[in-house]
Amino acid sequence: MKPGINFGGRSHWVAVSALDCQAKAKSERYPMWLRVHYAALGWTNRVGHAGFSEGKLAEILGYAGHPNGKQHTNKAIRKAIELDLIHRDSGARCLVLPSHQAQQSGHGSADCKVHGIRA
Ligand SMILES: [Zn+2]
Repeated sequence: MKPGINFGGRSHWVAVSALDCQAKAKSERYPMWLRVHYAALGWTNRVGHAGFSEGKLAEILGYAGHPNGKQHTNKAIRKAIELDLIHRDSGARCLVLPSHQAQQSGHGSADCKVHGIRA
């Protein structure tokens, strides 16, 4: 994969802070579907995949000091997909950002065990 960010043509882009997105993903101030989107942005790798160990996303989306339930986590993922915030291949083990929406440059992995991607 060629390093760098390229949305094609003359399209311009903005950058977001991964740390800020991670904090917002954990914040109870936002609806769950938005927190899912922030989690995807906050933990994305160079190929747009944000991988999580078993139960980690539920922990990130927790509330009142408890991990989010599996059903609630999956419901929030479905809503984020429905709103076109993340790709339909997303699940609790990997949130996928469409490449037309977000790209990551620099450090980090370019692999995804969940989706079988090896760069
Ligand atoms: Zn993946």
